Amino acid sequence: MRFEHEGLAQRVLFGSGEAARAVTEEVERLGSRRVMVVAGASERGLAESVTAGVPVVVHHDEVVMHVPVEVAERARAVAAAHDVDAIVCVGGGSTTGLAKAVALTTGLPIVAVPTTYAGSEATNVWGLTEGAKKTTGVDGRVLPRAIVYDASLMLGLPVAMSVASGLNALAHCVDSMWAPRADPIDRALAGEGIRALRIGLPQVVADPRGLEGREYALYGAYLAAVAFASAGSGLHHKICHVLGGRYDLPHAQTHAVVLPHVLAFNVPSAPEAERRIAAAFDAASAVEGLRRLRTELGAPTALRDYGLQEADLPGAVEAILPVVPADNPTPVDPDNLARLLHAAWEGADPR
Ligand code: NAD
Repeated sequence: MRFEHEGLAQRVLFGSGEAARAVTEEVERLGSRRVMVVAGASERGLAESVTAGVPVVVHHDEVVMHVPVEVAERARAVAAAHDVDAIVCVGGGSTTGLAKAVALTTGLPIVAVPTTYAGSEATNVWGLTEGAKKTTGVDGRVLPRAIVYDASLMLGLPVAMSVASGLNALAHCVDSMWAPRADPIDRALAGEGIRALRIGLPQVVADPRGLEGREYALYGAYLAAVAFASAGSGLHHKICHVLGGRYDLPHAQTHAVVLPHVLAFNVPSAPEAERRIAAAFDAASAVEGLRRLRTELGAPTALRDYGLQEADLPGAVEAILPVVPADNPTPVDPDNLARLLHAAWEGADPR
């Protein structure tokens, strides 16, 4: 065995009902006196409760999925106008993404309080959208200094969004088995992430206000994000990135639909990943494990339900092919990619 693995330096505080105390302590630790709170209008109540002990100078609530550049510019102007020295963001990946966009140009430290399973808080990846083109990059300035995980903040996350977001986290785990920089540490984290999500998500569906399922799922989502941050984007993320940017599809739902198709496509050529994923699902095969979980969760099945047109598929194939990782386990060609996308579009059985 031989590998190089780089972990990202950030503090992680996990405790249900403890966000307000933990956020206060993390802001004090940074020595910050002028905090900008970034949270969408619907997360305002959550944000106010967790920042009650923090010296807040401004609340900013213009949160838009995929962070349009003009939205980022306005948030940066607000930060400058209020002379802020730290950001606390409370929300899903879109909210964390906006805080990262401000940190990218200002270097302001972020304390992230996630309220979905997207995992952006544990990566040094930023994303901005200009027109229909989404650009991403890696920069140490956008990595939150601290993450405060409090599963009690997620009790109101609607079940459908919880399922889609949880499967987005699962996709981080699965892709981390074969992404370009995947190493044994990433695979170990990803296997435990799958196990935790497999235990937690059905509990969330059965009892959305139950803390135990929410905690398992959130723990799994963090592991997933750490694995993904190190392993990089594999075939699954490349496909979803293109689809999300070009056709403005919802992020988590797109991941949830595409995942079983990429899994079925790759496992025949990736026996070690197949074994690990099957074991994490406690199933006879990886594909069977994911199928069982998706059935239990009532997972979304077809991209056409989110506005993608059949006529969009040839353009999508053309846009994805050049970004497919060269060492993807199953070699990708225009025909097999077109079949994969068509199956995901119509909601056919993955094969
Ligand atoms: P999101 O942040 O857009 O949130 C989805 C919806 O859930 C919103 O309507 C939001 O108001 C609602 N919501 C969030 N938390 C809630 C709560 N606790 N209770 C009730 N409602 C709640 O969606 P997302 O899937 O979390 O994030 C998607 C974005 O994150 C995409 O732009 C994606 O590219 C980005 N992302 C980036 C990275 C990265 O590493 N940079 C990783 C994952 C995702």
